[in-house]
Amino acid sequence: MSTAGGLHTAFERGDALDCTAIQIFTSSPRQWRGRELSDDDVERFHSAWSDSNCEVCLAHDIYLTRLGTRDKTILGKSRRAFANELGTCHRLGLQFLVIHPVVDNDPDEHAVLDRVADSLNEIFDRVEDGGTRVLLETTAGQGANVGYRFEQLARIVVGVENASRLGICLDTCHVFAAGYDISTAAGCKKTLAEFDAILGLENLRVLHLNDSVKPLGSRVDRHEHIGQGEIGGTGFKTIMRDRRFASVAKVIETPKDDGMDEQNLTRLKQLAGKR
Ligand SMILES: [Zn+2]
Repeated sequence: MSTAGGLHTAFERGDALDCTAIQIFTSSPRQWRGRELSDDDVERFHSAWSDSNCEVCLAHDIYLTRLGTRDKTILGKSRRAFANELGTCHRLGLQFLVIHPVVDNDPDEHAVLDRVADSLNEIFDRVEDGGTRVLLETTAGQGANVGYRFEQLARIVVGVENASRLGICLDTCHVFAAGYDISTAAGCKKTLAEFDAILGLENLRVLHLNDSVKPLGSRVDRHEHIGQGEIGGTGFKTIMRDRRFASVAKVIETPKDDGMDEQNLTRLKQLAGKR
């Protein structure tokens, strides 16, 4: 959700679209420097939230963070920035902070994943638990991205001492591009059974609902409007009607074309059988 005009303005926009969950960036996602929030900003944010129908508000981490990199300078910068971001989320009272956990050119995949776990251990030591759960997002496996197999995320979780501060965010476009076929009811069932066996469905806290421009297994991350891509209506219908997800927060990250947020949300409600 756009926060142009201040973080608190996201709630008005969310209410206009009848949202019960919104996702924001607390600062510009392509800059290292996080936003300095005054006590007034935080106060304004809390009061806008309490006036809104929105129940869940989560943040997406900036795009620069590399918690698994071999580059010591970038690693240090990433850890500092992520610790700050987590602190900001605590001040704002956000339930979740979503991170794309691993982007690196290191051919030793296990080393990358273990460094992410070490980073999280260090950050959790430094930043007291303020209630914001860090969610590892499934990736599409594009370029040097790891984190596109459930097993890879599980390796990070196992390496984190305080795993109760962690959870998983499943992005439908990413898992599909990574090769999990969720375009059919049978495929969804199989994928979720795999997720449950490896990561535990109880750890799934947020769904990013995006259709995919690119085909199954393409490993290319391009979001499409709901029902207009390679996943299609059946996949989303199956997910929207799965009772296990009734209390899982769902957000869309579909292209920001004119009026399309409203159409995508309406489409999801129709597929859920609510309209
Ligand atoms: Zn996503």
